[in-house]
Amino acid sequence: MGGLTPSWPTAISPLTIATPSCARCHGLGVVRARSDLRAWHCVLRAVCRTCLAHYYVSQVMMAHAHAVAFERVRGPGGRPIIRVGNRHAEYSADFVLAARRALAGMPVEWRVFHLHFLQGHQWRRCVRIINRVLRLAVPLTEGTFFRAVYRAEVLIGSTILASRPYRLYPPAEYLSF
Ligand SMILES: [Zn+2]
Repeated sequence: MGGLTPSWPTAISPLTIATPSCARCHGLGVVRARSDLRAWHCVLRAVCRTCLAHYYVSQVMMAHAHAVAFERVRGPGGRPIIRVGNRHAEYSADFVLAARRALAGMPVEWRVFHLHFLQGHQWRRCVRIINRVLRLAVPLTEGTFFRAVYRAEVLIGSTILASRPYRLYPPAEYLSF
């Protein structure tokens, strides 16, 4: 699918993960931006949520022995060595790093990601903590909290689609490396 930004995995159609009732893309998953087609927010949020769901699975799986993979890589002086890796631990770390990159310079969205997405706190608790820690001029409310959730999902989804060489979406592709 040439010309679709952020660059899109060829095996998946944005149509399949778009929100059918989306007022902006009407369920197509893309909008026209000058001469390009751009993956719309509903699709970017779906990418973020899919990766988040896989992050939760990875957190459980990383404890299991079968998650460990052996890889032959080049060590010091070019000598081949066997590297022991845990793909689930790597996925988890890469997901959090992608989010950190996506939300750099956005203290509210970063804390929303950390407290709500990673630690699973409900909005009330997140809002209380964020308002205490950040001392915002305009304190966060339920409405602005969920707008920050929306922004975080869009930005993380977009960053994930742009990441190289190992893309986190779709998770199966990442794990096949
Ligand atoms: Zn849409």
